[in-house]
Amino acid sequence: MAGTVKTRAAPCGRLAPSPTGALHLGNVRTFMVAWLSARGAGGRVVLRIEDLDHPKNKPWAAGQAVEDLRWLGFDWDEGPDVGGPHAPYRQTERKERYAAALETLKAKGLAYPCVCTRRDVENGQSAPHAGEMMRYEGRCRGRFPDFASARAAAQGRTPAWRFLAEGQPPVSFVDGYAGQQVHDVAATCGDFVLARDEFGAGYMLAVVVDDAAMGVTEVVRGDDLLEATAPQLLVARALGLPAPRYVHVPLVVGPDGRRLAKRHGDTRVAAFREAGVPARRIIGLLAWTCGWAERGEELSLADLLPRFNLESIPRPPCVLSEDMAQRGFGPP
Ligand code: GLU
Repeated sequence: MAGTVKTRAAPCGRLAPSPTGALHLGNVRTFMVAWLSARGAGGRVVLRIEDLDHPKNKPWAAGQAVEDLRWLGFDWDEGPDVGGPHAPYRQTERKERYAAALETLKAKGLAYPCVCTRRDVENGQSAPHAGEMMRYEGRCRGRFPDFASARAAAQGRTPAWRFLAEGQPPVSFVDGYAGQQVHDVAATCGDFVLARDEFGAGYMLAVVVDDAAMGVTEVVRGDDLLEATAPQLLVARALGLPAPRYVHVPLVVGPDGRRLAKRHGDTRVAAFREAGVPARRIIGLLAWTCGWAERGEELSLADLLPRFNLESIPRPPCVLSEDMAQRGFGPP
């Protein structure tokens, strides 16, 4: 209509924890950026539990993640505990959607079964964090007519479904933090694993299907998943699904430069909560690491809405450990 001012639709962001362990400060920092980015633009937030079969899944972890996030002051418009128009919000309850997407890819000749062993069975069944994607030479391409024949050859292991990346042109996208990206998937990872499950219930396929089905328009996550993005865009394109905007922010690492983990001490939210550390102190500390607060400030997520700025997040990985957090939580 003449005279109508075009405004960008409010985004829909998401928090997508995998219940493989307790939420730690690294997870929370990334979720904080995701939440502020969506809410700061007047957008919606979806909570999705990425609980597809994985050897590290813990039965208590999803419930505790919801509890921890609530205690820290996060909220969401849709999720397993509040329902919503795109329910269910647990991936284990959405498997028929992945199966349907897999059928589409198979019909297009873009998915094939593979019996090759990977570094371990977790590859392809969970998010491939930095350095976990290896180039696949295509040994099983065109080798098996169906999954059953692959299974017969797999000697007790579960075969995987791979996406035919060979022959696909390089993928470009503009990352909201990392900037212009051009990734030649065929050259860098080759035909990648969609799922290590007969019916397509694995990370690479599920994340693409769910983000589109749930109307997610903005994916904010750790930059260890930057290299998983071009493969996901290839899958989305093959399925005719819209691509979200991606924002990959620097990861939290321990003093040894590796992804924050148990060896860096106890940085679980639950541990700080049990020790009586107030939620506002945790949010304040993490906001300080993003350049949005003075050291020692105690803040709520809502307090940060006017301060949110992707550009002020330092480019190097954020280094944290239990000791550093304890010091950060102390008086400035
Ligand atoms: N659930 C994934 C993880 O915790 C995140 C996947 C994603 O953000 O795409 O590693």
